Amino acid sequence: MKKLQLYNTLTRRKEPFKPIHDNEARVYTCGPTVYSYQHIGNMRAYIFADTLKRVLLFNGYKVKHVINVTDVGHLTSDADEGEDKIERAARKEKKSAKEIAEFYFSVFKQDLRKLNVLEPDVWPKASEHIKEQIELIKKLESKGYTYTTSDGIYFDSSKFKDYGKLARLKPENLKAGKRVALREKKHKTDFALWKFSEKPGVRQQEWDPKNFGADWPTGFPGWHIECSAMSMKYLGESFDIHTGGEDHIAVHHTNEIAQSEAATGKKFVNYWLHVAFLTFKGKKVSKSTGGLYTISELEEMGYSPLAFRYLCLQTHYRKPLAFSFQNLDSAQHALERARRKVIEEKNSPRDGKDKTQTYLESFANAINDDLNTPLALQVLWQVLDDESFASDTKLALIEKFDLALGLNLSSAEEEKVRAPEEVKQLLEKREELRQKKKFEEADKLREEIKARGFAIEDTPSGPKLRRLKK
Ligand code: AMP
Ligand code: ZN
Repeated sequence: MKKLQLYNTLTRRKEPFKPIHDNEARVYTCGPTVYSYQHIGNMRAYIFADTLKRVLLFNGYKVKHVINVTDVGHLTSDADEGEDKIERAARKEKKSAKEIAEFYFSVFKQDLRKLNVLEPDVWPKASEHIKEQIELIKKLESKGYTYTTSDGIYFDSSKFKDYGKLARLKPENLKAGKRVALREKKHKTDFALWKFSEKPGVRQQEWDPKNFGADWPTGFPGWHIECSAMSMKYLGESFDIHTGGEDHIAVHHTNEIAQSEAATGKKFVNYWLHVAFLTFKGKKVSKSTGGLYTISELEEMGYSPLAFRYLCLQTHYRKPLAFSFQNLDSAQHALERARRKVIEEKNSPRDGKDKTQTYLESFANAINDDLNTPLALQVLWQVLDDESFASDTKLALIEKFDLALGLNLSSAEEEKVRAPEEVKQLLEKREELRQKKKFEEADKLREEIKARGFAIEDTPSGPKLRRLKK
């Protein structure tokens, strides 16, 4: 069986996974900025992180997983300008910053549960880790990595030798660009560690650093410092895996590495894993191209959240995922078919061979090859379709696969579809006609049933009704 290999953005290679602590993997995932709903593009990032965690568990590792919650400091522009996203949402929705953050965080957690994403061990919030962030900035200040401008304390990227190693930024790109307004920044890649409040007392979330032993004006932390401070607090100064969307490579993660390694003098993270974007109509999801659906919206359209998970697993995480309703329909159909196969296997168990070892090896080889979930799904289908594989061992193996896939296949149970009386009567009539081999008439009734919003699935244990999407 192949050992786990992961593609590391830092080295641009697949590498065998070797954890720092024996049998334990420590993983940090950049979490949501809780100023609005997370869309299906964001959810792809969490399904990917969850699949990684599940594959680590499948391989027998204990996993310590942290997902942070950005509830302060993320500005509308990545260039340390603009308004704080949470403060802006609070003003627009006439709520407190806390209420905004709590609300969108709770919706996000509900969506994760629907997607069968395992809860992380810690959900640290940026606003509750101000002390840790200030301490880290003080450390950088004492080592000479910072400078102060009129609006904040900045990290001097030219002082950190390997700045840009993750994104392979070319040295010429690090110099002041013509088109980039530097204002008081010394280099275009310098970034804010602590921003001063424009007018203290106006922002809802601001802190006086004097309460934490730093002599800076009242303000709030920059977005990047929170991830360094919180990941190191919970996972150690050096830890195994850091995940996020590919948009984080050039700025957010580049800055995390610079400030963490400058502060500790140690390697921050061994494996950097990045998920490619979910796209809609050929472009990344955005206000102008659309596709900013939420999981609840998909549900309202009649899709199950796990169909979206299945859709995500059908594409390797490093490839862009082209979202379309046609693809989601096929994913939903495939998932339903898989679940029905599991139910049939439970209801009418079959004797046969135990083929666990062969299939387990193919499955592990697929997911351990940098999480090749499309191939792992193919192995799942080979198992589901293999009629010479004895049901008891087959079901146990599917349960094992599902530890990595998270599709809730093993808990698949006969879905009780509540159909109106007239639909049930039509179904009975259709059965009678079929018994009498009057197939044409029977098909007409199938159409009538369909017009009433139900599909018929003919299974070995008789016809079953399924509600059609609206
Ligand atoms: P945010 O709440 O904007 O900080 O984003 C949360 C996570 O979603 C980050 O890891 C982003 O990189 C990721 N993300 C944002 N948009 C997409 C997308 N279209 N496809 C995949 N991941 C995304
Ligand atoms: Zn982050």
